[in-house]
Amino acid sequence: MNRRTLLQTLGATAAGTLVAGCAGSDGETTQNASSDAANESGTTTATPEATETATATPTQTVTTSTLREGTAEATDLYVIDAPKAGPTFFLVGGVHGDEVSGWKTATAATEWDIDAGTLVVLPKANIQGVENRSREYPEGTDLNRQFERGKPPKNELATAIWDAIVEHDPDVLVDLHSSKGFQADDTGYVGQNVFHSQQGTMGPDAEQATAFLNENYVPASRKPKYEFVTTTMSKNLAMIADKARADLEIPTAIFEVTEADLPEETRIEWTTAYTRWMLDHWGVRAMEGEQTAQSTSATNTTSTANATSTTKTTETNS
Ligand SMILES: [Zn+2]
Repeated sequence: MNRRTLLQTLGATAAGTLVAGCAGSDGETTQNASSDAANESGTTTATPEATETATATPTQTVTTSTLREGTAEATDLYVIDAPKAGPTFFLVGGVHGDEVSGWKTATAATEWDIDAGTLVVLPKANIQGVENRSREYPEGTDLNRQFERGKPPKNELATAIWDAIVEHDPDVLVDLHSSKGFQADDTGYVGQNVFHSQQGTMGPDAEQATAFLNENYVPASRKPKYEFVTTTMSKNLAMIADKARADLEIPTAIFEVTEADLPEETRIEWTTAYTRWMLDHWGVRAMEGEQTAQSTSATNTTSTANATSTTKTTETNS
């Protein structure tokens, strides 16, 4: 702030005092005297500049890097940093490319504004699986079976993903999936379910998150069949979230929305709602006001994801 602005701020009475206090040279005395004259005559100077300076706020930064760069598996990792300190939240999508709602939600999340901390997003973990809408790519290789506890990951893509997780040292990790059936049916399918680790408050958090979804998103006409349930993660299936839980001892969750008779738009809407609830709960991004605009937000999410997906395909083909 320059002297003229100070004089403006302080007003005519205080300005007299200031002139006396800093009259070190003839030049300054003259300048201050003319400012005083301007004030007395009612002319205003420099106020807009002062206002601009006062309201300027820092913004978040987004850093993109590429895992497995230069290979057919090359996939982007986004690091969104808020100016305000907070936890690091690692969000994964596209581990299974046919589970579209997960990678579309994660892709949309790369453009979200956050309030605090760091949001790391790997939206299309297995980009070839995503492009082929395939659970396994290459065929016979399920990316979510490459992460054995206490051992190095089994292939190069899994290694790159694991290295990125270790490097960013997240406070929490969420992996977005979908399933053809329902966990509650006990048929081997795991839909409408949040698998959670037992670190911290992940159990009660999963209860709260699913209660939120059941209350605000699952319509009465689909209850009780489509009500979300929670399950403690225990099976040793060499999954990302299980290895992160076991080896890094961090809270992790796997979100599984059902694909059974549920439109893609709704699957994305529910996956988005869960992700937002978790980000809000961890203090990374406030959810305020978004519940009332759920259909609009779901539509926006879909179109953003489609646009990004189209761009991606073009880049890969070229
Ligand atoms: Zn999956």
